[in-house]
Amino acid sequence: MTVFLLILLVVVFGAWILQRRSFLLQLRSAERIIEEVAAGKKPATVALRRHRDFAGVAWRVEHLSEEHELLKQKFAEKTFNLDAILSSMIEGVLVVSKTHEIRVVNQSFCKMFNVPADALGQTVLRAVREAAVDEIIGETLDRGEVVAREISIATMQGEPRHYSVNSVPVKNPAGVTTDAVVVFHDISRLRQLEEVRREFVANVSHELRTPLSIFHGYLENLMENPKMPRTDIAAILKILSKHSRRLNALLEDLLTLARLESRRDRIDLAELPLRPMVETIAQEWRQKFATKNLSVTINVPDSVKLRADAFRLEQVLGNLLDNAIKFSRDGGTISMRAESQSDAVIVRVEDNGIGIPPADLPHIFERFYRVEKARSREAGGTGLGLSIVKHIVGLHGGNVRAESTFGTGTAIVLEFPATKD
Ligand code: ADP
Repeated sequence: MTVFLLILLVVVFGAWILQRRSFLLQLRSAERIIEEVAAGKKPATVALRRHRDFAGVAWRVEHLSEEHELLKQKFAEKTFNLDAILSSMIEGVLVVSKTHEIRVVNQSFCKMFNVPADALGQTVLRAVREAAVDEIIGETLDRGEVVAREISIATMQGEPRHYSVNSVPVKNPAGVTTDAVVVFHDISRLRQLEEVRREFVANVSHELRTPLSIFHGYLENLMENPKMPRTDIAAILKILSKHSRRLNALLEDLLTLARLESRRDRIDLAELPLRPMVETIAQEWRQKFATKNLSVTINVPDSVKLRADAFRLEQVLGNLLDNAIKFSRDGGTISMRAESQSDAVIVRVEDNGIGIPPADLPHIFERFYRVEKARSREAGGTGLGLSIVKHIVGLHGGNVRAESTFGTGTAIVLEFPATKD
């Protein structure tokens, strides 16, 4: 009996030991599996499932692992979307903490302010070195309010850059400002255009003022002297007529420019042989050449063809001939030449007139730019001819340049794309 009890005790104890050992082994593998889940790996729960006590644990660990994986995916997706959005934005974006440290920054911002991509964690002032930027952010963080402002930043190239800045506070559920999200929009181009428009309006006003004040003065003179001799009246009317022609020319050129810029009048491209057009124009301009005893030479091979709008091309050649006459000396020569190259058609209108000083040469295609204002005005120039030429040639896909030696002569060279046979 005692022996039997002893054997039973040994068996029970042995079974208990075995079960305990198996339990501990399962517990260890459960620990390992949880570590795997924490490390982001897919857990191997098969061994665990076999044990009755651990089947539930295995099921929950699997569920947890799936949840973890899903969360990871969602997080990665969100980060990817945020990164994609931030890096594709033209605007510069900055997220700054309460202590003015950069938490998020996108590529556009780094480019705008020459900031290295590893600026995260640095203070705004240290990374950007612009007090105006730090000030705006400071206002948002201190007051918890949206700040919208325009700033100008000096650049190494000389031209300042202009930005519209919007700084928005980020608040926690308690309403305390924790961060600022700042968006920078580059408005330099807009400012430049405004400047060009302002300058243009000022130039036009200036050009109109001169003839109008002349009109005003002479008309008052006529009204105050009803008995003015006929010869004096005739002289005044001649001056008025000249200025009304100038006014007209100015308005015509302004209208042409406005039309070209608005592209309301589309250009009508057709393949044109150049020689007949040049010859016709030279014929039509004979009298004008004669006023200065100018001789004209034409060297345009029959084979030269252009894809061009005939009316606009005539306008270009007319403007260039007009200049060539205005700036030629008596008895000078004007030549019109053209040649077809492999990928371009080159047209040159050349004179041996007064030429253009090197310092003025880069500017002559600008609106209202004249080397000698008085001389150009006196000759009936508006200062818009070459900008019209440049615009029209540009609409044909070509370009224009000037070659000139001061005192010797000028060549305006037009380059059109070659026509395809
Ligand atoms: P403008 O109506 O004054 O001729 P343009 O725009 O046609 O205006 O030309 C701008 C300026 O370029 C002229 O005022 C003149 O100073 C210079 N220029 C243009 N063509 C010639 C040329 N063939 N010879 C010398 N100067 C020229």
